[in-house]
Amino acid sequence: MYEYVGSVHIHSNYSDGTGSVEEIARAAREARLDFVIITDHQNMKGYLEGREGWYDSTLVLFGTELNQEDHHYLAFNLKEELDTRGLAPQEVIDLVNQKGGFGFIAHPFEKGSPLVLQGRHYPWKDWEVHGFQGIEIWNYTSQWRDGAQNLLKALYSIYLHRNSNLKCPCPQALQAWDRHLARGEKVLALGGTDAHAIRVKAGPLQAEVFPYPFLFRTITTHVYLPLQLRGDTLHDRAMIMDSLKKGHYFTANDQVHPSQGFLFFAENSQEQCLSGDTIALNKKTALEVEAPSPRSTIKVIKEGKVIRESSSPNLVFKVLERGAFRVEVHYRSLLKGERPWIYSNPIFVV
Ligand SMILES: [Zn+2]
Ligand SMILES: [Zn+2]
Repeated sequence: MYEYVGSVHIHSNYSDGTGSVEEIARAAREARLDFVIITDHQNMKGYLEGREGWYDSTLVLFGTELNQEDHHYLAFNLKEELDTRGLAPQEVIDLVNQKGGFGFIAHPFEKGSPLVLQGRHYPWKDWEVHGFQGIEIWNYTSQWRDGAQNLLKALYSIYLHRNSNLKCPCPQALQAWDRHLARGEKVLALGGTDAHAIRVKAGPLQAEVFPYPFLFRTITTHVYLPLQLRGDTLHDRAMIMDSLKKGHYFTANDQVHPSQGFLFFAENSQEQCLSGDTIALNKKTALEVEAPSPRSTIKVIKEGKVIRESSSPNLVFKVLERGAFRVEVHYRSLLKGERPWIYSNPIFVV
């Protein structure tokens, strides 16, 4: 199994981001990302113009962020542009699925800031929907905006302490995810930067708010692939999309500490499976976690409750009941205390 690191919610100058595809690819390479998925609003221009492919050591792929009224939905694995004007959230989800894609509810609890876009914000309001692949639990830009309620706070978080925007995933989004899991629904979690690299001008001064190379080193998506990427765009795209669809990946804040090497899997006497997969309960069913630092605190979570906690980097947890089990790893930093770091997808024990 091979692990590759990417960033999956990005805007380019095909919509309201400022960077070209080449600039984004360069920033991703600087941040040592293996892949990026550019998700411009309401369009797949980059894909349709044949811009997908390898740019040196980074694979650039395209999805899209579909907006209708207030709801934002990240759609992946599409091969065409969808016209979703006037559609209800459920109709958008269904259309994406029909076209062979899959999607994630974006920044579902965003509150907005009076300082940005005149306070406009796009939380997800329709929770009766079904058929979506997952929920974006961590969104750098959206959560920064939520915290930037006045100029002082905004300037502090842009210029003095950028990582103050990165404390943890959105608590309400985590709760919503856990509620779906507790009901037995197969829902995954995603983390995005929502990178725009917005340039702001004040007289002769010009600044880029959260440039792409900075954001690409923050919230990352680590996919597990059965084969190595081989430089063939179609093959490599299919592998990455497959792992995103199945939940064979985890989300991490790599500013806390490099998260490569994290593993969460399950086994029983007959089979072994990865996060996102389903495994049968028998006398031998166990979850196994390998965290990439001795400073790890591992939490096994079921229905929103921590059912096992360990301060060692390796954990074997014998499963005695059915349900969805997910893992969080918090990093015990010497100066900053325990910091939320890695979020796995669930393993479904049936
Ligand atoms: Zn959005
Ligand atoms: Zn976005």
